[in-house]
Amino acid sequence: MTAQIISGTEIAKQIREELKEEIAELKEKHNLTPGLATVLVGEDPASQVYVGQKEKTSQALDIYSERHDLPADTSEEELLALVDKLNKDPKIHGILVQLPLPKHIDTTKALYAIDPKKDVDGFHPVNVGKLMIGEPDYLPCTPHGIQQLLIRSGTKIEGAEVVVVGRSNIVGKPIANILLQKKDGANATVTICHTRTKDMAFHTRRADILIVAAGKPKAITADMVKEGAVVIDVGVNRIGKTAEGKAILCGDVDFEAVKEKAKAITPVPGGVGPMTITMLMLNTVRAAKLAAGIA
Ligand code: NAP
Repeated sequence: MTAQIISGTEIAKQIREELKEEIAELKEKHNLTPGLATVLVGEDPASQVYVGQKEKTSQALDIYSERHDLPADTSEEELLALVDKLNKDPKIHGILVQLPLPKHIDTTKALYAIDPKKDVDGFHPVNVGKLMIGEPDYLPCTPHGIQQLLIRSGTKIEGAEVVVVGRSNIVGKPIANILLQKKDGANATVTICHTRTKDMAFHTRRADILIVAAGKPKAITADMVKEGAVVIDVGVNRIGKTAEGKAILCGDVDFEAVKEKAKAITPVPGGVGPMTITMLMLNTVRAAKLAAGIA
């Protein structure tokens, strides 16, 4: 059996089309334009690319976008003052402070300073807590993208054995929590594995849905996967460069071998990656609707 390839590129495109319509309707019926502010401190090249992509996607969807590029020596006070200004700005519904921040700035303090109502990344403890009790305003972008990949590829989540490899606050823990919710598109039985898990393959082989976010190239081999499983590979590992100097990427799953055993699988690139920015746009639209009392 060769697996169905779950294309994040295609599914992200569908969601963007839906968002475009929703944004046009918000403008027409409510005179409301969702607004996103991105804040970048320093010149980290990868962060510049990510912020650039977020700005470009906002513009393509007619979301008002504001980009704040601050020098690397910006003080914590200056950053907090900008966040405070954006918190009070009615044009701005979502604020994204790009990580990592320079070492002299306390990341936790910066993220906690964002008004939870404008926390479109879903990292503020208020939003983490709301997700935990099953009443989220925002779902964090990458895990929400994973859930959408499962739903839109027709994967049965309810009652499924889901195994998540990785327990980070941005992927592993929130996706486990999302799929555990007593809601449509969830109701799974969830196990989380990490570096201290005894006999990880014992768990992964039981998975109907295997979600891997370890950051270790090809950590999941075919013998660790159940025949007919749905495999979501979140990992993005740079394993070399092409002759033209372009990064060669691979996931956390041995794609070529596992695709012969799985029912469906996401590729890297073109799987989870394109979903993350799309879900950020979705959260920005939601933030605008919540602020206007429409949601
Ligand atoms: P992270 O913070 O480094 O966490 C990795 C987790 O995996 C940790 O919980 C770690 O366990 C666990 N782990 C590592 N190696 C393992 C192994 N061999 N067996 C079992 N567990 C193992 O990483 P992250 O931020 O969650 O990201 C994970 C991957 O997803 C990275 O490649 C990242 O680039 C990618 N990612 C992609 C997107 C996207 O949009 N496509 C977004 C976010 C992240 P311990 O807790 O025990 O150390």
